[in-house]
Amino acid sequence: MITANITNKDIHWFNIALKLSEISECKFKHGAIILLKGRPLAMGVNSLKTRNIQKFIKTTRGKKQEYSLEAELRRKRAATNHAEYCCMDKARKSCSLKGTGIISARIMKNGTPGNSFPCVSCLPLILMEQIKYVVYYENGNLRKLFLT
Ligand SMILES: [Zn+2]
Repeated sequence: MITANITNKDIHWFNIALKLSEISECKFKHGAIILLKGRPLAMGVNSLKTRNIQKFIKTTRGKKQEYSLEAELRRKRAATNHAEYCCMDKARKSCSLKGTGIISARIMKNGTPGNSFPCVSCLPLILMEQIKYVVYYENGNLRKLFLT
């Protein structure tokens, strides 16, 4: 794995991923973009899984009840679908991800970027898909890591 110099295009797409992450419904807001030959193939943000809340929808005489506060709190604590995963899942539907690049961003409450290196569950998936490089933010610097 080699770290490389950041290009203007990397900065451009990172800023878009950062802006995109604002729309995440999660407490920690992440956004990701997959690029193929410099063009976006898919974009995504992390989101709360709906599976947990569905357990709490009770049906009374065919009418759905409103979510209880407990259910809402559970939903907030539930695991999330990560931005990178969301992105890979979308992009995979149209083509192989081999040779693509992934931009990973996280926006902090004050609007500045936060550390965004893909987590331990996303990184193996990124490697498995043979994605060529990752652009992420780390301790004040934008970084690019070539994986293959
Ligand atoms: Zn992750």
